Amino acid sequence: MVTASQVYRSTRSAEKETKSFEAAVIQGLASDGGLFLPPTIPQVSHQTLFTKWNKLSFQELALEIMKLYVDSAEIPEQDLKNLIERSYSTFRAPEVTPLAKNVTGNGENLHVLELFHGPTYAFKDVALQFLGNLFEYFLMRTNKDKPEGERKQITVVGATSGDTGSAAIYGLRGKKDVSVFILYPTGRISPIQEEQMATVPDKNVQTLSVKGTFDNCQDIVKAIFGDKDFNSKHNVGAVNSINWARILAQITYYFYAYFQASNGENGKVKFVVPSGNFGDILAGYFAKKMGLPIEKLVIATNENDILDRFLKSGVYERSDKVSSTLSPAMDILISSNFERLLWYLAKEYEAGNGDLRAGEVVNNWFNHLRSEGKFKVDQKIIDGALKDFASERVSDEQTTATIKKMYEISENPKHYILDPHTAVGVCATERLIAKDKDASISYVSLSTAHPAKFAAAVNNALSSFPEYSFERDVLPAELKKLSTLPKKLKFIEKPDIELVKNAIEEELAKMDL
Ligand SMILES: *Cc1c(COP(=O)(O)O)cnc(C)c1O
Repeated sequence: MVTASQVYRSTRSAEKETKSFEAAVIQGLASDGGLFLPPTIPQVSHQTLFTKWNKLSFQELALEIMKLYVDSAEIPEQDLKNLIERSYSTFRAPEVTPLAKNVTGNGENLHVLELFHGPTYAFKDVALQFLGNLFEYFLMRTNKDKPEGERKQITVVGATSGDTGSAAIYGLRGKKDVSVFILYPTGRISPIQEEQMATVPDKNVQTLSVKGTFDNCQDIVKAIFGDKDFNSKHNVGAVNSINWARILAQITYYFYAYFQASNGENGKVKFVVPSGNFGDILAGYFAKKMGLPIEKLVIATNENDILDRFLKSGVYERSDKVSSTLSPAMDILISSNFERLLWYLAKEYEAGNGDLRAGEVVNNWFNHLRSEGKFKVDQKIIDGALKDFASERVSDEQTTATIKKMYEISENPKHYILDPHTAVGVCATERLIAKDKDASISYVSLSTAHPAKFAAAVNNALSSFPEYSFERDVLPAELKKLSTLPKKLKFIEKPDIELVKNAIEEELAKMDL
């Protein structure tokens, strides 16, 4: 038995009507400032899970899951299947997201879910490879039979402090009727990250190196989104982590890893997720609510611990300053996707199950956040959240110690090397194993990046081991080669919106899509 839910609505209630999947994906953010979600989460029966889904490949599972969220009148099943197959054919691992089982080899049941086998060696590829194909699919349909010159084209503009930019570029490179411009702060991202973005030769891609900070870049992007003239002329689009299709694509690996960890049976499995914007772990929440019997979803944060503080106090409070840590992809002030979880909690515990009432409750909370920098929820909301979630906070010192320890003790494979984000998760996992003392639990710790992408932190942890070599043990040939390729960069000499808009228009004219 499966039930589907294929309409979407905003987490705030000013926008009252529901939307199709296509509208939710193309629009990204609701016009009332909320995020789109399926108000009812589709259900999968125990029997379907443990007699059918437990035998499926990653791609087959993705299709079964997505069918529940996308009406076949919107995307026929065969088209969806093709989209999924194309999206994951770019991954280096045949299983797409393989599970490294029992890495410590000492009976701890510590498994590492490797999400970094996509084109940019980061977990964001799982979602952005799919989203890029989906954009192209919707545009091709809109533009069918339209003469040149009347085709709808989308100009994707984004800012990156590192990983998102390259994953977005690799998701959109070469796609018809889409161009992509990624702004990053000159000299403030790692050399590999810059090379990954700037060496992509496709004509629809341009990186903009902006003299300034990441916040400057982000402010410019926000201003461009708010610029009505520019927007109506160029159809500015976003692929940031609040896009519903990204969450949807990530649900698959929770099912797939669960079945691998439990040998296809119903077992006790905890997932530990290094978290920033809450997009990764939110996909696990959907898996759990669909019926996958996950024991617990554990949020692992670095010193930017807004989520850990919330679960302990019920107060959601924006920090006034981001701490720079060894796991920069998790250095955030606010966790955008957390709003979606809050909506489901409001619906269950505050709103008597009314969709619009839940939106009003959420809207209220976020008004408080805007005016006072924080809001507090009732204990029943926290108690509700704690049924599904737990949280752990990990310092930089503990992150480095975990990279070292795993290098020393790992057996499968020997000398397993973690990137610092993954190490935050593994540190939290080791804490849980020590607390739970229950050998019947399996732990799936999510690995969100390849260690080569965070060379400084990894080398700092491991350079005291005489046999360790970054070039030999960590750096893949494909990434090594990047430094020899020509770079396509455009410098913007000060963080100024007019300069950026001019640069985009100049390049768009050259791209001649
Ligand atoms: C984006 C990212 C994260 C955080 O994921 P969220 O969905 O924002 O919680 C963790 N690690 C890496 C390497 C990332 O790129």
